[in-house]
Amino acid sequence: MAACRARIDELSALRKQLVSDRALAERRVADQEDMLRDKRQRIQRARTERELRAGEDEVSILSNDKSEAETEALELMSKVEEIEATIASAKGEYSELEEADHRHVDQEAANIEQLKSDLEAERRARNEVAAALDPVMRKRYDRVLAARSGLAVVEVKGGFCEGCHMHVPAQLVIEILKTGSVKVCPHCQRILYVAADEVSESEISIE
Ligand SMILES: [Zn+2]
Repeated sequence: MAACRARIDELSALRKQLVSDRALAERRVADQEDMLRDKRQRIQRARTERELRAGEDEVSILSNDKSEAETEALELMSKVEEIEATIASAKGEYSELEEADHRHVDQEAANIEQLKSDLEAERRARNEVAAALDPVMRKRYDRVLAARSGLAVVEVKGGFCEGCHMHVPAQLVIEILKTGSVKVCPHCQRILYVAADEVSESEISIE
């Protein structure tokens, strides 16, 4: 984008130079027209053959100069038009780049907003659950959460704690299931929960 901007600035400076060259060339054409008119009037007032010849020579030289200046002015005119077209396309390119850049920034901003609102929803859900717990359990939960880097409640699967992967005594599993009381893993102190399908396995294992 910076390169595109620099190119536009460079082209604009070149255009400015060409426009001033063109103005000078046009001015030269106008001056020569004035001089020619003047010379022609003088020819009409010529009194001798010699004056007439000299006048005609001057007119022919001036006419040549004038047509050269006209050619130059026309060339400069077309160069100005050419460079203006180039500038216009460079500007178009620049605004496309700018637009793409904005789209990118807008997308990023939208992603950040989405993440923020997701996080907010998670936090609300967590607070609702925490508020529903009784104070003693809540305290235990918060303590374990802090001590176990965010993982406070774990499942017992196949007789093992999912938090520390140590064996949980079957008696403890049965107790949780039968009384619904809150127990912690004897190894890592995380709060344990037991899924219904753990029942049969645990009951079988102590029988
Ligand atoms: Zn454990």
